[in-house]
Amino acid sequence: MAKPALLTVDDDREVLRAIERDLRRKYGSDYRVLRAGSGPEALEIVRELKIRNNSIALFLIDQRMPGMSGVDFLAQAIDLYPDAKRVLLTAYADTDAAIAAINEAGINHYLLKPWDPPEENLYPVLDELLEDWGAAFPPQFEGIRVLGNRWSPASHSIKDFLARNHVPYQWLDIETAASDSEVRSLIELLDEEDIRSLPIVILPNGVRLRQPSQADLAEHAGLRTRATEAFYDLAIVGGGPAGLAAAVYGASEGLRTVMIEREAPGGQAGMSSRIENYLGFPSGLTGADLARRAVVQARRFGVEIISAEATELRVDGPYRFLKLASGEELSCHALLVATGVQWRKLDAPGVERLTGAGIYYGAAMTEAMSTTGEDVYVVGGANSAGQAAMHFSRYAQRVVMLVRGSSLATSMSQYLINQLKATPNIQIEYNTSIVEAHGDNHLEAISIRCSTTNEVNKVPANSLFIMIGAAPNTDWLANIVERDERGFIYSGPHLTRDGKRPNGWKLDREPGLLETNVPGIFVVGDVRHGSVKRVASGVGEGSVAISFVHQYLSKVV
Ligand SMILES: Cc1cc2nc3c(=O)[nH]c(=O)nc-3n(C[C@H](O)[C@H](O)[C@H](O)COP(=O)(O)OP(=O)(O)OC[C@H]3O[C@@H](n4cnc5c(N)ncnc54)[C@H](O)[C@@H]3O)c2cc1C
Repeated sequence: MAKPALLTVDDDREVLRAIERDLRRKYGSDYRVLRAGSGPEALEIVRELKIRNNSIALFLIDQRMPGMSGVDFLAQAIDLYPDAKRVLLTAYADTDAAIAAINEAGINHYLLKPWDPPEENLYPVLDELLEDWGAAFPPQFEGIRVLGNRWSPASHSIKDFLARNHVPYQWLDIETAASDSEVRSLIELLDEEDIRSLPIVILPNGVRLRQPSQADLAEHAGLRTRATEAFYDLAIVGGGPAGLAAAVYGASEGLRTVMIEREAPGGQAGMSSRIENYLGFPSGLTGADLARRAVVQARRFGVEIISAEATELRVDGPYRFLKLASGEELSCHALLVATGVQWRKLDAPGVERLTGAGIYYGAAMTEAMSTTGEDVYVVGGANSAGQAAMHFSRYAQRVVMLVRGSSLATSMSQYLINQLKATPNIQIEYNTSIVEAHGDNHLEAISIRCSTTNEVNKVPANSLFIMIGAAPNTDWLANIVERDERGFIYSGPHLTRDGKRPNGWKLDREPGLLETNVPGIFVVGDVRHGSVKRVASGVGEGSVAISFVHQYLSKVV
């Protein structure tokens, strides 16, 4: 955390240097001592510190300066730092003016120049003021800050990306400027261009990123975006439970392992508000916790985790080459595809246009706080929708679940059905589907059809979370690995048809249990044809796959 600043201003260079020296000597270990030679120069420093969200504990200002007096400077600076202590330096002849300024600029003290010896004339005064300041002052948030609009899809995706990658950030909604002085003063300090290009991400060092891409954000948030090596024993695409488990087992068993994840480690499981059926966690755990623990474990064994999207695969003899969206290429002997599934899109007028502006796929937990006191609609009847409804019920006034079928019994676990029924602010509407979403800049209403009466009802709504199943996203692998008609990847026994091995298979063995039609390319988790879509089965497959990887590597290396 940056130390709070002590800012001293004087137009006399020698005096300025002397004050700075005395301040550093006594306070340098706990405070940053900054200096300026004029009021305007000091105001620039104050503005920059405010944009960075750094604290100022004390202004120590000369009164008589050309252009801007000490009191004039303070009158502007305290708008930005109302809690900072203010000390005016005056010459003997200025004492009357200084006393008058106590009322005008709320000065805490005035000191006569020269103050030597500081032990007697300077430090006792400042000690007392700084002690008061420290006791009353709440620590400032000094991580990444995101200023944007709640209803902007770009703001949502930045918040979601940071939250899912466990990067702490502070969200500032421009819509709250009227009631939130912090948002208001930040808006006043930024350039017009910054405000026109929201969302803007402000880094702790003051750098501002206007509408950053995910890759930019990853780079500036300290996530690794490039591979450190050109070649790995094992490359894993996808950092959900299956990919993470493979990474932990692979690296712990000595393989040089890289894991490429385009959004955030944890995958779908990372979006779950509470996983209650994962072995060893009797009271459940959030997906974010599971992901965080797994990432720590993987890193401890030396897995390199890259925030990037794999977009192309090429096979050349025993080498498998992966191209990333940045254009970078890396190679490996064994490749493990663990890319899971992505949400299926809801096809109704208005939905695509308002996605990210009130309509979200998945539980979008970053939006939960914004739904406080509102009505929330959740579409879907599987476990993911049930968990989301339970989660939002803690914030929203009412959660309405829209379920296409006439019961949840076949699509949801009984423990969740029981929880939903026992939660008074959750309402389940069976035989319903969304036929239209309405709103100009953000969701304002939805039209719901009841399939038993065919009646359509338009109801006001600000938040709609869609969880209606998922599909794999494997087109980038289409020319290399065999897939079923929905894009799930075949492996092991599914590849042998009528006793025949897959086309092009040249080895004198069958494809391994989790191996694709290309030797050395394995598939695990939800993206595998015929897989059981559960956290534990993904973890199981990811772990088991490593023993097949070893068998394969023992023949090629
Ligand atoms: C909200 C929700 C709640 C759930 N609750 C439970 C539960 O309580 N219990 C349970 O057992 N199961 C639950 N599930 C199911 C479980 O989460 C999944 O079965 C599991 O996450 C599948 O793991 P996976 O690693 O195969 O794939 P995923 O979790 O889908 O992970 C795949 C990862 O690959 C990444 N990726 C995809 N393509 C690329 C690419 N080209 N380049 C780089 N990265 C890529 C994705 O960004 C993603 O992070 C839930 C699912 C959801 C959505």
